[in-house]
Amino acid sequence: MFCLPEAVQTCLDTLEAAGYESWVVGGAVRDLCRGKIPADYDLATAAEPEVVAGLFERVIRTGIRHGTVTVCLGKTAIEVTTFRTDGAYTDRRRPDRVAFVGSIDADLARRDFTVNAIAYHPARGLYDPFDGRGDLERRLLRTVGDPPCRFSEDALRILRLYRFACQLDFRIDPATADAAKALSDRLESLSRERIRAELLRALCSPKPGRLADLLDTGALAFLGVKSGDLAALEALPDGALPRFVGFCRLVGCDPDALCLALRSDNRFRRDAAALAAALARPLPENLPALKRQLRELPLQRWGDLLALHAALCGSDPAPVEKMLRRLEAQPEPYLPAHLPIDGNDLRALGFSGRQVGEVLEALLSRCIDEPSCATREALLQLASRMR
Ligand code: ATP
Ligand code: MG
Repeated sequence: MFCLPEAVQTCLDTLEAAGYESWVVGGAVRDLCRGKIPADYDLATAAEPEVVAGLFERVIRTGIRHGTVTVCLGKTAIEVTTFRTDGAYTDRRRPDRVAFVGSIDADLARRDFTVNAIAYHPARGLYDPFDGRGDLERRLLRTVGDPPCRFSEDALRILRLYRFACQLDFRIDPATADAAKALSDRLESLSRERIRAELLRALCSPKPGRLADLLDTGALAFLGVKSGDLAALEALPDGALPRFVGFCRLVGCDPDALCLALRSDNRFRRDAAALAAALARPLPENLPALKRQLRELPLQRWGDLLALHAALCGSDPAPVEKMLRRLEAQPEPYLPAHLPIDGNDLRALGFSGRQVGEVLEALLSRCIDEPSCATREALLQLASRMR
């Protein structure tokens, strides 16, 4: 029914030839049923992890404690997980222990949503005990089993629920939505890194506006995130940086504080702060003003900035785009490094210490207003008059 990549087929065949029932599961089956090409494949198998590891030449054993062995065939990495249940989740983060079970049924029953609990095998076809395919057709997200139980076991599922709603543009079944909202105070117990990963995936999706329902319950208030209408984010490029900065603006929180709360890396934090600061300024109205702002925000971020201005402030990006194109066609200096002289030239003229930087700044400012001054002769002459 579905055409599987050769490596995935080989992996299934090897496991089954050794006598172990095996299936393609998870997001790959969901994608195949929707006519999308899966980015990666997960297999579930009756074989225990050590057996799986013994059947293939190249394996990565990082997840072996939880039953997962990554099998490498050619350039393809396939996650092979032994049929399992998850046991209890006393810290609401990860199962205390996993128990290997003999059947695909129990394995599918531990999965989060019906659309993620479909199994496929080329010879046996689809195995879909929770009517995941029906829900795919209805474009509906529903937990496998009792929603309050499933969210109490693992609060990450609450975020996954809204992330999938945003990515797939699916509705959430009322009983599932009610339980998710009622238990949303449990999100505080999750690791900040996991919250960040799910939040960014939701924000970078086609329908980030679907997150608003969760925010309305105050679910992320512990991170300083209030509620807001996020539909405007759809008009932005789908990169993490513009979506995150737009999100902060719409929910009224400080990007730097949120980066800290979510343990974002320093580079993301710095870039988000620079983009948010640029968004807080009016767009430049002339070329010198644009060049001065280019010192604060590098050229490669201006696409994001203009999209943010257009989507959130209703500004027309066209005049700035025109100036940027002109600057690209005819470069003019706007950074000290663009000047045809440097600190050594100024020291040769007798400047020293802090003066060197100050004079360079003054010369740059002059060149920004009057690009025709940007020749060595003119600048050295201007500098010698400053002594
Ligand atoms: P994507 O890869 O796009 O995030 P996915 O559905 O493949 O989507 P994964 O995180 O790769 O999601 O997980 C693979 C499968 O494992 C899921 O489809 C689901 O069946 C199951 N799963 C993952 N996380 C959970 C969880 N927290 N609780 C229950 N089942 C889960
Ligand atoms: Mg996946």
